[in-house]
Amino acid sequence: MTAIRTGLAPGATIGVLGGGQLGRMMAVVARQMGYRIIVLDPSPRCPTAQVSDGVVVGALDDLAAAKHLASQVDVITLDTEHVPADILEALEPIAPVRPGAAVLRTIQDRLVQKQFLDRLGLPQAAWAPADDLDAALAKVGRPAILKVRRAGYDGKGQVRVERDGDPVALLARLRGEPAVAEALVGFTREISVILARGLDGQIQIYPIAENAHRRHILHTTRAPAPMPKARRSQAEAMAVAVAEALGHVGVMAVEMFELPDGQLLINEIAPRTHNSGHYTYGACATSQFEQHIRAVCGVPLGDPRALTGAVMVNLIGDLWSHGAPAWQEVLARPEARLHLYGKDAPAPGRKMGHVVLLDDDTGRALATAESLITTLSSRS
Ligand code: AMP
Repeated sequence: MTAIRTGLAPGATIGVLGGGQLGRMMAVVARQMGYRIIVLDPSPRCPTAQVSDGVVVGALDDLAAAKHLASQVDVITLDTEHVPADILEALEPIAPVRPGAAVLRTIQDRLVQKQFLDRLGLPQAAWAPADDLDAALAKVGRPAILKVRRAGYDGKGQVRVERDGDPVALLARLRGEPAVAEALVGFTREISVILARGLDGQIQIYPIAENAHRRHILHTTRAPAPMPKARRSQAEAMAVAVAEALGHVGVMAVEMFELPDGQLLINEIAPRTHNSGHYTYGACATSQFEQHIRAVCGVPLGDPRALTGAVMVNLIGDLWSHGAPAWQEVLARPEARLHLYGKDAPAPGRKMGHVVLLDDDTGRALATAESLITTLSSRS
C-alpha cells in the first residue's frame, strides 16, 4: 500500500460493505481517482458490483464473508448504516473501518441516537421510549409518530398515532419491534447539512440542502437552500457538533426540521453519503462521493463549493410501471444529468436513479423537475 503521509494514495483498495447506489457512485469516483474497489453484497449484480474491481458475495451480517473482504483491502467503508456494529468491530483488527463500529452503535439505534443528541444539548422533537406506550404518549403528546428503533428508513417501520387512534393496534403494525415515540413536528420545511470529516478532524461543509418528500421518500432536493446566514451558521454548527462528538470519519448527513419560528430540530443522522447530497455530484467542485473516499483514505478533503445551483429529483420504481421511461425529455435538456443505478427490478417506492438539474435559478429547476416527472410518468 502507498501512503501520502498517513493517507492511502490512489492504487490502494477500498472495501465497501453494501452494494447499493451510494456504493456505486463512490466506486465510480474512486476508480476515476485510481483507487480499487471491492464490495460485499448478497448479489453479484448489485449496483456497486457492476462498477467495482471485485465482489465478495455474502450477506452484510455474514462475518466470514466480511472477513474475506477485509483481508483483501486497505480500508473499509459503508454503503449503508445497517451493517451490524459487531461485524465492524470484528473487522477493525484486520483493516481500518471508517466510520468505525462506535459511530454505528450510536446511530443504528434511534433510542441511542436520541440519547446522544440529548447529551450534546442539541434540539430534537420531544421523544420517549415506547416500551411503556401510555407514558410515552403522555410525554410527547398526540399526534405522535412511533418509529422502530432499528433498521427503519424512508418512512418504513413508522406509524402515526392520531389524536383518537388506538396506539396499541398501531404498535402491533411495527410487529413488536422496540420503538420510540416522537412528537409530530409542524415543520415548514426539511433541510440537511452534509459535511465531511477527515481523519485529521478537518471538516468541510456543503451548501445546505432543502428537501421535499413524497410518501416518506425523498422527492426533490434544492441547493443551496435559501436561508438567512445566521440560521445557516446555526445548522452548520449543529452538524459539526454531531460529527465531532461521534469522532466520525467520512461524509455525514444531518437532517433537520425547520419550524415556523426558524427553530431547527435534528430529525436524523446518517453516517454516510446521503440522497440529499446527490446534487453535489455535478454541482460542487468535489462531490460527496469523492469527499467520502478522500476522508476514509485519510487524504486532504476537496473543495465542497457549489459551482452552480442545483435541484435533484429522485426516479422511483413507480415510473417503470409500464416499462422503462422514455428518457429523451431528460437527455434533451442541457442542464440535466441522468443517473441510473443499474437495478434490474423496479419496484414501487424503490430508488432507481435520479436527475440533477444544474441551474442557478433553483425555483425554475424545481418546476422543471416536476414537469420532467409528469412527462416520464405519462410516457411510462
Ligand atoms: P425519518 O425516517 O425519521 O427520516 O422520517 C421520514 C420522514 O417522515 C421525514 O423526512 C419527515 O417528513 C417525516 N417525519 C419523521 N419524523 C417526524 C416528526 N417527528 N414530525 C413530523 N414529520 C416527521
